[in-house]
Amino acid sequence: MNMWPKNQKCAVAFTFDFDAESVWIAEDPENKNRPGVLSQGHYGAKVAVPLIMELLKKHDIRATFFVPGVTAETYPDRVTAIVAAGHEIACHGYTHTSPTDLSRKNEEKDLIRALEVLEDFVPRVTGYRSPSWDFSPNTLFLLKKHKFRYSSNMMDDIRPYKHHKTDIIELPVQWILDDAPHFWFDAETWNKKISTPNSVREIWEAEFEGIFKLGGSFILTMHPQIIGRPYRLKMLDAFIGFVKSHKDTWITTCNEIAKSQT
Ligand SMILES: [Zn+2]
Repeated sequence: MNMWPKNQKCAVAFTFDFDAESVWIAEDPENKNRPGVLSQGHYGAKVAVPLIMELLKKHDIRATFFVPGVTAETYPDRVTAIVAAGHEIACHGYTHTSPTDLSRKNEEKDLIRALEVLEDFVPRVTGYRSPSWDFSPNTLFLLKKHKFRYSSNMMDDIRPYKHHKTDIIELPVQWILDDAPHFWFDAETWNKKISTPNSVREIWEAEFEGIFKLGGSFILTMHPQIIGRPYRLKMLDAFIGFVKSHKDTWITTCNEIAKSQT
């Protein structure tokens, strides 16, 4: 049975976790004193976000940006521009700390602070993605308490579903549909080869075709600091073109997909 509005066959959301420096600082507070390390995140705000916005404009599509509160405080002009271009802003924690590393009290504090910051830019934030896609035993309860419409964190489906005993819609993700496992280089261990864009495009296209045939939802997770290199954006440009070439594909924001399931 078709689950999408207007007889569309498949729903697609292009999502960007706008971490900037926060991911390195949350990992190790000492990184605050390492401008070289932080510059990897600065690139996301300084260069990548404008290039991504240009690409989305070229394709006339709306995307969802999951933004940590600290990123919005550090780069308010970028967030304002994202909102002005019609994209969705959603919650990615305040400090980019995994909920599993926080007490229930601190997890709620982090969430409330993130919402306060983001809701200076948009009237209401409806979506949540954990900074690690990982939930603590309290996360779902807190999302329910703070009236989130959707979560985009779980890997147990290819279609949205409702979390048990809540009204929260899950928009499932997967490591294969994330730029980080393919492109992230870890300078601490040097144990990973950086993929070529074409090899990633092959994976994303094949998985998209599979989800399209099954009438599911295709939620692609990217990070400005990773996907935002020129040669990778060229691949993303081609990939968006490939998705658009499939008739009856609904490319929209996570919020719109979640709303269609309530
Ligand atoms: Zn993140």
